[in-house]
Amino acid sequence: NKQVIFRDYVSGFPKESDLYLTTSTVSLAIAEGSNTVLVKNLYLSCDPYMRIVMTKLEDNNLFSSFTPGSPITGFGVAKVVDSGHPEFKKGDLVWGTTGWEEYTLIQKPETLFKIHHTDVPLSFYTGILGMPGMTAWAGFYEICSPKKGEYVYVSAASGAVGQLVGQFAKLMGCYVVGSAGSKEKIELLKNKFGFDDAFNYKEEQDLNAALKRHFPEGIDIYFDNVGGKMLDAVLLNMRVRGRIAACGMISQYNLNQPEGVHNLMHTIYKEIRLEGLAVFSYFSQYSKFLDVVLPFIREEKIVYVEDLTEGLENAPAALVGLFSGRNVGKQVVVVAKE
Ligand code: NDP
Repeated sequence: NKQVIFRDYVSGFPKESDLYLTTSTVSLAIAEGSNTVLVKNLYLSCDPYMRIVMTKLEDNNLFSSFTPGSPITGFGVAKVVDSGHPEFKKGDLVWGTTGWEEYTLIQKPETLFKIHHTDVPLSFYTGILGMPGMTAWAGFYEICSPKKGEYVYVSAASGAVGQLVGQFAKLMGCYVVGSAGSKEKIELLKNKFGFDDAFNYKEEQDLNAALKRHFPEGIDIYFDNVGGKMLDAVLLNMRVRGRIAACGMISQYNLNQPEGVHNLMHTIYKEIRLEGLAVFSYFSQYSKFLDVVLPFIREEKIVYVEDLTEGLENAPAALVGLFSGRNVGKQVVVVAKE
């Protein structure tokens, strides 16, 4: 059983060497009456929150840290190899929290979602039909309270979550601008995902000026994936009763001391609603989410770009690459295809 092991708690930017590969043996049958499920991992999801749990966390109600010396865990798509749980049988396809290894014994199979729709790529259950998809859906439709014609800004817009938020906003009839960190990503935003406009934040000296150029009338909705200086600049450009979904703050995850946000007074001046999102709170609405998003995929109203990396040996580089923007679209590690 090839495994990706967490070396030790990380400070600053994560490196490939913070993870290492080992091989151990695994029994492919589970003990009778154990109520567990043994799965073969097919696709593993690289998600920015995984940097947060590489730190030794205290007082965090949402996450628990990775354990040094053990395989890291994350969302993935897997196939049931053996089951002691009445609700799962050999051959079932599932997605949920699993280990970064070839085979994982799932102690709490109740946390897994069964995959019933296989007319779409299975890897989509790490992205558009999994946790990031739920994030975009809940963040945009629930937290942002969007209306037709509103001005929407999305940061980290070409990624797993951002590309969906932009497309949901276009379907709603909004005017949508996204930012991302390379020319290739800007092209994708404009030509593949149908954003009205896009800019490379790395080429902007003055983020406030960049936002004023793209939103001369101001921003109604900001879907924040990055936090930090971008959030500060957005606060200066919000319209009255605008909404900000605080989804992620990837610009802060590698800093030992997070940057301050200076313009929060504007939430008062403009009566802005800034609301944090924890996607786990929406997992109970998964079937409602599928009812909305599966037809979007089948009717080709939405496209989804993935960045597939083959092999567990390349998984550390794929995960670490999220923090330099190496991934173009949803970063997935392919462990096995079936
Ligand atoms: P992405 O697929 O967008 O990958 C991360 C991207 O972030 C990189 O490709 C890079 O793109 C960008 N990035 C990296 N460092 C910085 C930086 N310092 N400043 C600005 N951008 C940076 O990730 P996801 O779509 O999976 O996640 C997006 C955000 O949503 C993250 O903050 C994540 O933590 C959050 N999230 C929150 C959830 C919740 O429940 N609240 C659930 C899921 C995700 P670029 O080239 O554009 O810089």
